[in-house]
Amino acid sequence: MLNSLVYSHLYDWYEVNHRTLPWRETEDAYAIWLSEIILQQTRVLQGLDYWRRFMARWPNVEALASADEAEVLREWQGLGYYSRARNLHKAAQMIVERGWTSFPTRFEDIRALPGVGDYTAGAIASFAYNQPYPAMDGNVYRVVARLMDIDEAFDTTAGKKLFHQQIEKLLDRANPRLFNSAIMEFGALHCTPVLGDNCLTCPLQGQCAAYAHGTAELLPVRKPRPKVRDRWFTYHIYMKGDETLIQRREAKDIWYHLYEFPCEESDPLTTNPPTANPSFPFTHLLSHQRLHARYVIHKVQKMPDLPGTIVIRWEELNDYALSRLTLRVLDTLRHKA
Ligand code: SF4
Repeated sequence: MLNSLVYSHLYDWYEVNHRTLPWRETEDAYAIWLSEIILQQTRVLQGLDYWRRFMARWPNVEALASADEAEVLREWQGLGYYSRARNLHKAAQMIVERGWTSFPTRFEDIRALPGVGDYTAGAIASFAYNQPYPAMDGNVYRVVARLMDIDEAFDTTAGKKLFHQQIEKLLDRANPRLFNSAIMEFGALHCTPVLGDNCLTCPLQGQCAAYAHGTAELLPVRKPRPKVRDRWFTYHIYMKGDETLIQRREAKDIWYHLYEFPCEESDPLTTNPPTANPSFPFTHLLSHQRLHARYVIHKVQKMPDLPGTIVIRWEELNDYALSRLTLRVLDTLRHKA
């Protein structure tokens, strides 16, 4: 495959088709870093809102470093994987503590920040500083797998190594910022998981080995998914006037340090909770867990003395970072009210 042909077709396509995204219009490494961490969690449209809110509230690394962790978690609410928000905050503090006057510029320093892996470090180094590092996100893996017709699973150790070798060969070292932006966008918008007629109008058709071999729809290959673990949660919602009880999750488990109603975890929901009238169970999916949740409302005269809980007024709930499942429970309650 002739790299120069790939570059010229890819860049022509990008010029015409790319979306205007604020973090692609800037060379501010902080703004780019923030966008990359947010986009690990969500699609571009929803991510835009979060990014704008974060940028408005904490416009630079010093501002984020001096924020309260609880505030950062609350702004992150709804995105899930709160460890990413905690790492974001930790990384900002680390940068400030080291006395760096701005976001680090060396790839090794960027890569060493909490929550930053090879992909994110490559994205920041290339988008902010035009340094020749690849940025392999899911879209890029797909495009590379197809262009080179690689049927090795890309998410195994051996597969990752192979794909990295290939992208190193393909990377446009003269224009890494443009190359990474274009190939990511091309994977997001044109060489998509379901191809439809896209190959027929593809500017890289002549350079695409999978197209030539008729294997494009089969690629990329993933390793088999791990088994999903089922868990059963019953939330106890205590109501006394305008007060309720919440607790912070302290175990090193999902939603570490987020708040929720007192939660009882049990074996399958066939065993009834001690109190009657539980809600209909609903399912909440995480990447490797399937949560079966329900809630029970307790209207009480006196709040029970449950260890680790705090009494708050309902209107104060918004001041706490809540797990996504708790937000769903609240939504259901509001619909019933
Ligand atoms: S020809 Fe099809 S599979 Fe190949 S790069 Fe283009 S869209 Fe992707």
